[in-house]
Amino acid sequence: MWTSGKTFKDRGGCGHCPYCLGGYKQFTDTIDRRFVACTLQVKLSTVQEPILASDVVKFLTDAANKKEMKRRIWMESGKSKSPGKVHALALQLLAAGFLRLVVRDQSKLGKNDLSQKDIHVQIGTVLDAENMIEECAINCHSLWELFNYDRQR
Ligand SMILES: [Zn+2]
Repeated sequence: MWTSGKTFKDRGGCGHCPYCLGGYKQFTDTIDRRFVACTLQVKLSTVQEPILASDVVKFLTDAANKKEMKRRIWMESGKSKSPGKVHALALQLLAAGFLRLVVRDQSKLGKNDLSQKDIHVQIGTVLDAENMIEECAINCHSLWELFNYDRQR
């Protein structure tokens, strides 16, 4: 059961940080949410080899394909998006739980030889506690609320 609810008391925001002031939305600029959701699900559910965590930014940039992924994610202004915007999006996807980091070789956990090559990404899931069904986190509308996405699309 959810026990931390007994001690947690929401004191509201601090009113000064980028989260409270909404400035974090500029970290990524406006994205096409539907495209991001769709392309991540396709990429992470159809490839034979899992994606390395260190390759997520490469995937979102898609330099090998004339940065087509950037153009689709950020629409007209996509191809000129700075690396900072791409990294910000990758971090927000992780923070939201849309992407989950996994270490396949569990024997390397806590060892010095754990390297970037051991960390992969999987599609994040959430548990619908009422029905005990594991769902794709990307399909949870509320998790998208903090993203800066185009509400018209
Ligand atoms: Zn704050």
